[in-house]
Amino acid sequence: MSAAIPTPDTDFAHRQALALLAHERLCQLYGAPFRFFSVKDPMSELISAVLSHRTRNQDSHRAYQQLRARFTTWAEVRDAPTAEVEEAISPCTWPEQKAPRIQAILRELTERLQGHLALEFLGELPVPEAREWLETLPGVGPKTSAATLLFSTLRRPAMPVDSHHHRVAQRLGLIGPKVGTEASHALLEALLPPDWDAQLVYDHHEALMFHGQKCCYYRSPACGRCVLLDVCPTGQQLRGSTSMAPAA
Ligand code: SF4
Repeated sequence: MSAAIPTPDTDFAHRQALALLAHERLCQLYGAPFRFFSVKDPMSELISAVLSHRTRNQDSHRAYQQLRARFTTWAEVRDAPTAEVEEAISPCTWPEQKAPRIQAILRELTERLQGHLALEFLGELPVPEAREWLETLPGVGPKTSAATLLFSTLRRPAMPVDSHHHRVAQRLGLIGPKVGTEASHALLEALLPPDWDAQLVYDHHEALMFHGQKCCYYRSPACGRCVLLDVCPTGQQLRGSTSMAPAA
């Protein structure tokens, strides 16, 4: 008897089940629920997220601390000579691009919010609306908008996808091989139950990210000790087997 040809619906259902299975196994492996690492207000989290783009955590943390130490308010950052902002954030990557971007964001926010540089009001908007609002700021994409809403004190269920999370999702087949990080946000979020709260969304992101850092390495993933090997097409391929266990 020939195997059923997957339709878009069955394929989506398979990916949904696989995402939940990966969530369960990885959350158990890495010890969810995870404690939120940040207690920043949303305005501070937004700037911190811009600084963290393609930067190691300790470097973006140092850049953020230096920026806060040098300027008392966000209005001061906005109005400072760009070279001073650039110098303050020098530990992060591309300070020469990020300094003018941060000032452009602050200028745009000043105009939209009549000078009141605070984003707590985003907590009152539905998450998709809040994300859309943020993503029309200069240089703000889905990862930054999700980080602002989820990691900040707003604690809204919006899922960021970093490079580790993206790699694991791609190898598992949750997204196609050509889907980039930006485009993956909507596709991966659509696989999660819509009633998940911020803690569950955070746990999912953290668990997949940890897995990318601790097992599913960029070079030479450690498939032999991976708890997802039986359901991972990449792992099966790398191990030289064509048999695949069912996703659930
Ligand atoms: S089996 Fe290998 S490729 Fe698949 S998730 Fe695990 S480590 Fe990554």
